[in-house]
Amino acid sequence: MRYPAIQNYINGQFVESETKNFLDVVAPGDGELLSKVPLSVSNDLDKAVQSAMMAFAGWSRTPIKERVQVFFRYKYLLEKNLGELAELCSQENGKTIGESTAEIEKSIELTEFACSLPQLVTGEVLEVSRGVECRTEHVPLGVVASIVPFNFPSMVPNWTIPNAIALGNCMILKPSEQVPLSAGRLAELLKEAGLPDGVFNIVHGGVEIVEAICDHPHIEAVSFVGSTKVAKLVYQRATKSFKRCLALGGAKNHLMVMPDAIPGMTAQNVAASMSGCAGQRCMAASAMVGVGEVDHIIKKIVEEAKKIIPGLNLGAVISKEAKERIEKYISEAEQEGAKVLVDGRNTVVEGKEKGTYVGPTVIDYVKPHMAIATEEVFGPVISIMRTNTVDEAIAIENKNPYGNAASVFTQNGGVARYVIEKSSAGMIGVNVGVPVPREPFSFGGWNESKFGVGDITGKSSIEFWTKLKKSTIKWNPEAGVNWMS
Ligand code: NAD
Repeated sequence: MRYPAIQNYINGQFVESETKNFLDVVAPGDGELLSKVPLSVSNDLDKAVQSAMMAFAGWSRTPIKERVQVFFRYKYLLEKNLGELAELCSQENGKTIGESTAEIEKSIELTEFACSLPQLVTGEVLEVSRGVECRTEHVPLGVVASIVPFNFPSMVPNWTIPNAIALGNCMILKPSEQVPLSAGRLAELLKEAGLPDGVFNIVHGGVEIVEAICDHPHIEAVSFVGSTKVAKLVYQRATKSFKRCLALGGAKNHLMVMPDAIPGMTAQNVAASMSGCAGQRCMAASAMVGVGEVDHIIKKIVEEAKKIIPGLNLGAVISKEAKERIEKYISEAEQEGAKVLVDGRNTVVEGKEKGTYVGPTVIDYVKPHMAIATEEVFGPVISIMRTNTVDEAIAIENKNPYGNAASVFTQNGGVARYVIEKSSAGMIGVNVGVPVPREPFSFGGWNESKFGVGDITGKSSIEFWTKLKKSTIKWNPEAGVNWMS
């Protein structure tokens, strides 16, 4: 085992879980055993919530300008430890070092945004009647929980940690049991940055802990990022116990390629979007709809895909099960008549035979009813469908139940504007394959890609992590004070 067994992090200390059940943590890149993660029990969560409640009294009363000082230092520590954090992230997730480095850089950018929060939460004040003013304040909620998926072991936790905590909340993080290592390192850096004990806690585990979080009487809000199936369960369960909940789900993102699109640039974007992080991004292009004559662009996409080499500039998928699932989608599409132009099945990387790799895969003549065209594949696979008009392409995009992202590739501004207006997705790209809004803009999809109001990052997250206090104040020295009115 490359690392010691993982422990929970409660009240500033790493502590044993009360569980007897552990799962192996396996490196997708080479199949090596990295560690063991505890499937914590509800008693472990109770201890973490207790520590967070104790810490909340002091942390919520600390002025925000002081609270963000921790995040200025945390940002510096992320920068200082970037190489080591990226290495850890690559080992547990299987992504390339370049991708992990970009992930930590994104964590730094998220932290920068949190440092700017004092400028954004100033509230409002107005004299609403003679001598009477109304004012609003953003007040922290209390103990909050963040449940995260496997595909970004550092970035997705950092979607919530800096903002929720800088806004005065105390947090329980529930990392993915498949990638539990990075979270512990983030906890150490937060402590080194001066975060008081108990403000940030980690409880590892699976279903039992997620359910206990949703039911816990002293957790005020739950943010979730993961698959749609689980997002729905979490949203229903957390709101049933009257918690605030924002649950981000899966995705099926469509790229609509017009015949006038710039071929080289479009092909590079399509290939990078479908294969980055081995296709395991909720913003990955999974389906392409070619409108009209686009053979010349598809030819270039094939050329670009062939430059992507598993184990070199393409990482592993998370597990053996994931590899099997992705390859099954490809085989089924082929059996139903689609044409596999670049085939990533049965990929083995020399020297890393136990790694779980799927090569870049380009499939043409996919029909909109096929499973590969409608379901989330979550692998380095692009399914190409063909239509005659932009309206047919939009109809395919609109019909899919998800709504994270959609992109259009064209040189025609009118067509781009039309696709922006008609697409049913929360994040739209024009000549951009992965249209992630950067801070201060917020991240969040529509339809079955998100349950709850608002977005998880940027300015929109302020509303989720705080409640508004409205005061009406009468203080009129000229008229004297009439305490009874
Ligand atoms: P997942 O839904 O399997 O797991 C997410 C979290 O839920 C994990 O912490 C896991 O322990 C927990 N969990 C799993 N099954 C559960 C159950 N039955 N009951 C309660 N909790 C459960 O997701 P994943 O495989 O880790 O991540 C990949 C998914 O996340 C993809 O669908 C991807 O699109 C999605 N994702 C979405 C976004 C977004 O912004 N919309 C971002 C990243 C990932």
